[in-house]
Amino acid sequence: MSVEFHGHTHRLDWADPTVREWDCTVVWSDPADPEAGIVLDRSAFYPGGGGQPPDYGVLLWQGVTTRIIGTRKGDDFFLLPAPGDPIPSAGTAVRGALDDVRRSTLMRTHSALHVLCGTVFRDFGVLVTGGNMEPGEARMDFNLPEVPPGFKQLIEDTVNKEILNDRRIDVRVLSKEAAYAIPGLVRTQGAAPPDTPELRIVEIVGLDVQADGGTHVASTGQIGRIEVTKVENKGKQNRRVRIRLAD
Ligand SMILES: [Zn+2]
Repeated sequence: MSVEFHGHTHRLDWADPTVREWDCTVVWSDPADPEAGIVLDRSAFYPGGGGQPPDYGVLLWQGVTTRIIGTRKGDDFFLLPAPGDPIPSAGTAVRGALDDVRRSTLMRTHSALHVLCGTVFRDFGVLVTGGNMEPGEARMDFNLPEVPPGFKQLIEDTVNKEILNDRRIDVRVLSKEAAYAIPGLVRTQGAAPPDTPELRIVEIVGLDVQADGGTHVASTGQIGRIEVTKVENKGKQNRRVRIRLAD
C-alpha cells in the first residue's frame, strides 16, 4: 500500500497506468504563491524519475483550466501550474487530465528501454551505466568495452523480435526481502536497490526484471517497432545506444 502514496497523494499512475482523467480534491495550495504548486488527494501525473520525465496535463474546475507543466517532489507531490494560470484553493473539487500523447509515448519509450536493457544483458551479460528518455527517443549506456561487427543492426533486430513476441509486462509490489531475493534485480552498475519496506517490480516476462517506479505498457507488442539510431563510444568501457520509436 505504501508505494501507492506520495505524502497525501494517492498515486493513480501506479495503481493503473492507463488512467488519463479522474476526479479529485485539492489538499493544499497557496494562491498567493502559485510556484509552490498544488497537492491533490488523487493524481495520475507521473512525477518524473528513473529517467522518465514528468507528465503534463490540466486541472479543470469551476469552468477554468489550470495547465500543469511540471512537478516538484518533496514530502508531498506538488503539481506546478503554468505561469499566470488560476490556482484552485484547498478543498476545491477538480478534474485532472493528462496529455495522453506525451504519457502514452513515454510509456512505450520506457518499456522499449527495458526490452533493450534485458536483451543486452541476456546476450552480452553487461550492465547499464546510465540512461534517459524523451517522448519517442531514448538512450542507454552499457558497460561494453568492445562491440562486435554489425552490433547496431543486431540489437535493433533482437529488440524488435522481443517486441513482436508480445511479452507481458507485469508490475507488482514486493516486500524488501522478497525483492532482494530476485537475482540481478539491479541492472544499473554500482546502483543499490531502493532501501524501502516495499519495492515496485517491473517484469517483462521471460526477459527482464527490475525495481522501477515508471509507467509501462501492458505488453511489449504495444511498444511498436523501434530503430537503433546510433551506437556511440562514450569512454573506454561505455557504449551509448540511442533508440527511437519507429511506429
Ligand atoms: Zn525503467
